[in-house]
Amino acid sequence: MSNDTSNNSDRDRVLQLDPDMRDMPREVRDIISPKPLTGQDTLQFRCHPGIACFNQCCSHIEILLTPYDLLRLRKRLNLTAEAFLFQYATPYTMSKGQLPVAMMRMDEETGRCPFVTAEGCSVYSDRPVTCRYYPLGLALLHRQQTTGNESFYFLIKEDFCKGHQEPQQLQVEAWRQDQGVVDYDEKNRHWMELIVKRRSAGDATSTSLQLSEFFYMASTNPEKFRQFVFNSTFLKRYQVDKETAERILKDDEAMTDFALAWLKTVLFGDQEIKVNPEAIAELKAKKGAAS
Ligand code: SF4
Ligand code: SF4
Repeated sequence: MSNDTSNNSDRDRVLQLDPDMRDMPREVRDIISPKPLTGQDTLQFRCHPGIACFNQCCSHIEILLTPYDLLRLRKRLNLTAEAFLFQYATPYTMSKGQLPVAMMRMDEETGRCPFVTAEGCSVYSDRPVTCRYYPLGLALLHRQQTTGNESFYFLIKEDFCKGHQEPQQLQVEAWRQDQGVVDYDEKNRHWMELIVKRRSAGDATSTSLQLSEFFYMASTNPEKFRQFVFNSTFLKRYQVDKETAERILKDDEAMTDFALAWLKTVLFGDQEIKVNPEAIAELKAKKGAAS
């Protein structure tokens, strides 16, 4: 194993956030097979601890952290959201007008992932979805003319990765099942939809600082979002039943899901969380009387 690699892998840029490959930098396009894959296509690949390139893919990379990645890693490390973000993450905005995401912070001196060890990934059963998918990427497209999103997979082929030379063949869907990404994709559904919809609106659409902050908070810090929900007029302004309120009070996963569904309501009028018209009218009347 060699950790001193100069591979400039860019896995995050090709996973989930960059469905339009024409927007990608040349060095990223060069490692992506242009053929879109379905779940039924065949992948020739195997990764195992005895392989010559073991751990080479865990340095000099940018790994995007989805909301469910963060929940799993935090639980594994027994850290609060604040502590995890401070130590292991950094905010990143792909381009003007887009929503900010959390990226894994690599070691500044070595460029290594903080979780890589000589024996492999120290958080393997809770590793991020980007690491699980590799050497595949998932692209999501939002079509204005149709309802919902379209998705496809694609192959990332980097010279240093010897897994492509292994004889094992399996279907893309079998790889997804084997790597445990199906559950991750389902749990990140609201988050992915928000990013894709926002991206489809283009860079010309401005994203206010307040919206960016809410999105980053909803995606990364359920503890802080909980304070916002329970220590403001939120529960008056929106219809939140008792059962949901109790669930989001205790459960970070439920809180994250709720926060992102609320953002979909605010941004796109998806009506996932319904407003309380009487309370809104009352608040407006109070505001009017005070001014
Ligand atoms: S989280 Fe694990 S698999 Fe992913 S880059 Fe770090 S060490 Fe490698
Ligand atoms: S085969 Fe590819 S994914 Fe596996 S350790 Fe080697 S570089 Fe990483």
